[in-house]
Amino acid sequence: MTEIILQNIHKSYGDAQVIHGINLNLKSGEFIVFVGPSGCGKSTLLRIIAGLEQVSEGDILIDGARVNHIPASQRGLAMVFQSYALYPHMTVYKNMAFGLENSDMLREEIERRVHHAADLLQITQLLQRKPKALSGGQRQRVAIGRAIVREPKAFLLDEPLSNLDAELRVTMRRELASLHDSVASTMIYVTHDQVEAMTLADTIVVLHAGRISQVGTPLALYNTPQNTFVAGFIGSPRMNLLQGRLVREAEKVSIHLASSVFSIQGIDQSVNTQEVTVGIRPEHIDILSDKAKNADLTITVDLIEQLGGETYLYGQSEDGQSLTVHQPGQLTIQAGDRLDLGFRRDHLHLFDGDGAVICNGTRRVS
Ligand code: ADP
Ligand code: MG
Repeated sequence: MTEIILQNIHKSYGDAQVIHGINLNLKSGEFIVFVGPSGCGKSTLLRIIAGLEQVSEGDILIDGARVNHIPASQRGLAMVFQSYALYPHMTVYKNMAFGLENSDMLREEIERRVHHAADLLQITQLLQRKPKALSGGQRQRVAIGRAIVREPKAFLLDEPLSNLDAELRVTMRRELASLHDSVASTMIYVTHDQVEAMTLADTIVVLHAGRISQVGTPLALYNTPQNTFVAGFIGSPRMNLLQGRLVREAEKVSIHLASSVFSIQGIDQSVNTQEVTVGIRPEHIDILSDKAKNADLTITVDLIEQLGGETYLYGQSEDGQSLTVHQPGQLTIQAGDRLDLGFRRDHLHLFDGDGAVICNGTRRVS
């Protein structure tokens, strides 16, 4: 059982501050994913936990003990990088055993651990090979095996699948999930890929420019984003974020979007007339029939992508805002067509001028 706590972590390189005060409690046994765009500070934060970087300010606690000045080798954590960094002249067995042989561990125990890890990763038949005789996926498994044999308190993985091709990444993703189930250790996994984050994590930490944007389960982030950054980052294709105006007249609240006006309920009394961002995911938009009235938005279709089982439409509103629509099945729609769209109210998100959420889900007024 390993709990890792970060308290008020700041990190600067010279004058450049890259981590701006991060507080996090990472629960024992969880699969935690740090996700965010390139340069947001994911690797820096992971390296701070590992002990490969010193903080400028703040504390790192592992199982209640402050470890700021404990060297990486004594923190009991194992790190796996994007580049496998295997020793080319050593066999797979030796690559995995090497770290343990430098301790005073008994040979039988080392053998037991290497065979156990090889078994978990299904690379037993490769133990006598050298790295050059392995595929990319097999090499990454050896790198993970080298971490497993240490029986660490927690695994720290920095974009471990980034060098693999798309198909292999999906396979390895499933294997990592089942590995987490079998070793039952805390895993902290860094990726810029929100699909990896959604599929692997118990808890996702979304980082943006050195700050935590939101922490939550994958579905909590999808259903209730707290700001436009998370709304746009989690989910694929990304949420449509449209500029509109919220107008309150007495008890009635309406949204003005392009040439449409629609009323909604469920908005806090304190929210007054203002610029708003209306968030609606491509999968939460309905195409209304010709006879339907009161479209939430009318678009002209620019492009249609028919994938057979599903269809993506890309279009523009009358005021030139781009919009993506996702529909199941096949559609007989062409570029140039005008479509009346309805937004599902329980999936309509509103954000204020600073990008902070006003509400996730509203009620229809009709
Ligand atoms: P990520 O892993 O999210 O892509 P990093 O943690 O690697 O981001 O980097 C965060 C920021 O810190 C970036 O702007 C990067 O340029 C900067 N940075 C990282 N390492 C160093 C370093 N050793 N010296 C100076 N700047 C650094
Ligand atoms: Mg990185």
